[in-house]
Amino acid sequence: MAAARAMMDEIHEDCGRTSHGDTNTYTLGTIMGHNCVIACLPGGVYGTTSTTAVANSMRFSFPSIQFWLMVGIGGGAPTDRNDIRLGDVVVSRPSPGRGAVIQYDYGKLMSGGRFEQTGTLNKPPPLLLTASAKLEAEYRVRKDGQIPTFIAEMLRQYPDMKAKYSHPGVEHDILFHPSYDHFDPGLTCRNCDKTQVKPRATRPSTNPIVHYGTIASGNQVIKDAKTRDKFSRELGILCFEMEAAGLMDNFPSIAIRGICDYADSHKSKQWQEYAAVSAAAYAKELLSVIPHRYQAKEVDSPRIWSEKTPTSRKELLESLEFDEIYSRHASIKTAHTQTCKWLFDNLKYQNWLNFNKYSEHHGFLWIKGKPGAGKSTIMKYTLENARKAMKNKEKVIISFFFNARGEYLENSTIGMYRSLLFQLLLAVPDLQVTLNSNSIAKGTHGSDWSIEILQNLFLQAIKQLTDQSVMCFIDALDECDEDEIRNMVDFLSSFGDMSDHRVSRLYICFSSRHYPHISLETGLEIILDDEDGHSEDLAKYLNSKLSSIKGKKIEEVKAEVLGKSSGIFLWVVLVVPILRKAYDHGRMAALRQKLREIPSGLNDLFKDILTRDRDNLEDLFVCLQWILYSKRPLTPFELFFAIQSRDVRELSSAEPPEDTESVRRFILSSSKGLAELSKSRRPNAQFIHESVRDYLLRDGGMQSLLVDLQVGLAHSSHDLLRHCCDNYMAMVVQSHPAGWPNLPDAKSHEAAVLRKEISEKFPLLPYVVEFLIKHADDAEGEGIQQDSWVDGFPLKSWIYLHNIFEKHQVRRYKDSARLVYILAENDLANLMKAGMQRGLYTNLNSSGGRYGSPIRVAFLRGSKGVLEIL
Ligand SMILES: [Zn+2]
Repeated sequence: MAAARAMMDEIHEDCGRTSHGDTNTYTLGTIMGHNCVIACLPGGVYGTTSTTAVANSMRFSFPSIQFWLMVGIGGGAPTDRNDIRLGDVVVSRPSPGRGAVIQYDYGKLMSGGRFEQTGTLNKPPPLLLTASAKLEAEYRVRKDGQIPTFIAEMLRQYPDMKAKYSHPGVEHDILFHPSYDHFDPGLTCRNCDKTQVKPRATRPSTNPIVHYGTIASGNQVIKDAKTRDKFSRELGILCFEMEAAGLMDNFPSIAIRGICDYADSHKSKQWQEYAAVSAAAYAKELLSVIPHRYQAKEVDSPRIWSEKTPTSRKELLESLEFDEIYSRHASIKTAHTQTCKWLFDNLKYQNWLNFNKYSEHHGFLWIKGKPGAGKSTIMKYTLENARKAMKNKEKVIISFFFNARGEYLENSTIGMYRSLLFQLLLAVPDLQVTLNSNSIAKGTHGSDWSIEILQNLFLQAIKQLTDQSVMCFIDALDECDEDEIRNMVDFLSSFGDMSDHRVSRLYICFSSRHYPHISLETGLEIILDDEDGHSEDLAKYLNSKLSSIKGKKIEEVKAEVLGKSSGIFLWVVLVVPILRKAYDHGRMAALRQKLREIPSGLNDLFKDILTRDRDNLEDLFVCLQWILYSKRPLTPFELFFAIQSRDVRELSSAEPPEDTESVRRFILSSSKGLAELSKSRRPNAQFIHESVRDYLLRDGGMQSLLVDLQVGLAHSSHDLLRHCCDNYMAMVVQSHPAGWPNLPDAKSHEAAVLRKEISEKFPLLPYVVEFLIKHADDAEGEGIQQDSWVDGFPLKSWIYLHNIFEKHQVRRYKDSARLVYILAENDLANLMKAGMQRGLYTNLNSSGGRYGSPIRVAFLRGSKGVLEIL
């Protein structure tokens, strides 16, 4: 920032008027007649994600910024064609077939384990491209341009900067041969072998030369000459840096990087300041050729609203919604009659809603209890009763129920913010003006919502409320990532302070297990285990469920059940049918005998249920492993066929189930009652409660079931799932003995019809095609060799089936595609490594797919694991 600031012709007083929640530090001023805002990444922070966060806040505070310059330093990639030296400047510019900036790092892991497309190569806006082309032309005439002049002027104006920001001298610009690694880690190149220096012609002056071309941007530092040269050869990259990709997609920007090292093991910090100054000087020169009519009339005062038509507002509102938005809530068991009412009489609950006590708790109530205690049911009940009680709309009521077993949006705070905001804006339509906010990029749709934008919008919406308060119920925090939850709790806590003097307030009720422990500075806490009302609920439930059983001893039985339950509702719910069955078989004596046998504690009960009889054990194991290890939740029909696929004969004789109800019964019996169907628009198979998964995975339940397990559970499960997928695909292939017809174009109506027909006929096929190889890769991971699977894999059939489901013609594989290309594209590093060790994959540079060679596709798709092996 110092370098850019020093390039300013005029520095304005700090306006201090940024929008709420914006923690950036800005310098405002003019450069070459343009009003400019400079922001920089917080000290010690790097990376494209941080850049995006800073830029988002900046756009929020200064909505009429016209264009963005990413000015900073980077590692150069010198080649025979591009004689890049330290202190030179590289400016991002696309060329035919190449983007201006390429993102080279790992994509974010999205729902279902797929990789988000990386490297969307946005072109710099025409305004900036034209300006940089104009400068380039001027340089041809006037050789050095104005960079040296600007630097000299700056050093005259700020003499203190001379020591750090002057040219370090050509004798310190040393380029070693790529094969020669740095000698002394942590030290300078003094001890490096000078005979390994690559000879280069002496330049007539030390003035920086400007290069135009592709910049690679990512979250990892490149400090290896061979990697540098490979990417430079393959993709024509001139410079590596760590910020530009955070801007290129959503901001009209150009990247300007001063070269401070050669992205190799000899990299040092000696040139960083000078490189920063030469980049800033180029930025200044670029501004000098941009016409002033593009500048805003005055530096923005922070403004939040801009024009957006009602249509796009409506579209934005709709894009907040998602398929599973209410499914967890719908799947929670409704409270038994007469239970949960105690909460409304609870003093803490009443204080929570007491306006006069707001300053004591800042609107926070936290309900905690053991797994299976019944928290979600209480939350659902409380929510619904709060809704009934608030008919006069003095309070708006919104809610989110985290669901670890569901899709990505059901167990992430992104999904939570989307859902809460959607409900809030629906309930108070006046707040929909929030969606005019300029922080939303044009063309934003469902997958583009970021935490920062959603938090900002939520904050703005709450601030806009005039006379209404908001009651917000958030259930099962423990079913989301702990860091996300901490971030969310911090964010929401900031509201409590903010609304101290306001009429409208935010009331938040969380529920979670006792661990992980997240503390609130102010707030009320209700511990279910300690509440008499909760124990009384259990007794009421038991009374009604066992009311048909008469006998002198029944009261003793109930007391024993309650004692053994330790206050866990789920335990009682599971035990009651077992007791009733025993009673039907042998009356009270049998019931009491059974009760003695049933273990206390949820985990022991699960184990008892799973091992009580030995019927259909194969189905049980395969069912549990599918639910635990499938790459995404399965629909009921998918799970039905997935279980059958364990055995080829079973699969070929399996009658397709008639309706969802018969599938539901099949899944219930296969899982011995521990799995069920979710109640969403598109139901999925899932465990009845998160504690079942915890028992099976974390508490070793699966290990104790599969006693003869030779390798890790995860690997052997992926191997099993891979085996099931193989069988299913073989069955599909065999059903077309005469071969397959030529495929219609992917975009055509015929192709859509074909996709629909095939997936109706073979419900599991889309899953198999998408994840079969991934399961094989996971199985290979640490233990189970897939060599013979690789050798026997019917690649041609798989490619054909894959192409059926691929909706984009260009993404279809050619018939001749090699497995190695597919592995590289999808970052299947385990199979890649195993194949390389066996010498299967040669010719990694030969072209063969949409993106050319396996190396190139791995690079472009950010296949980090595969790149490490290559
Ligand atoms: Zn060195």
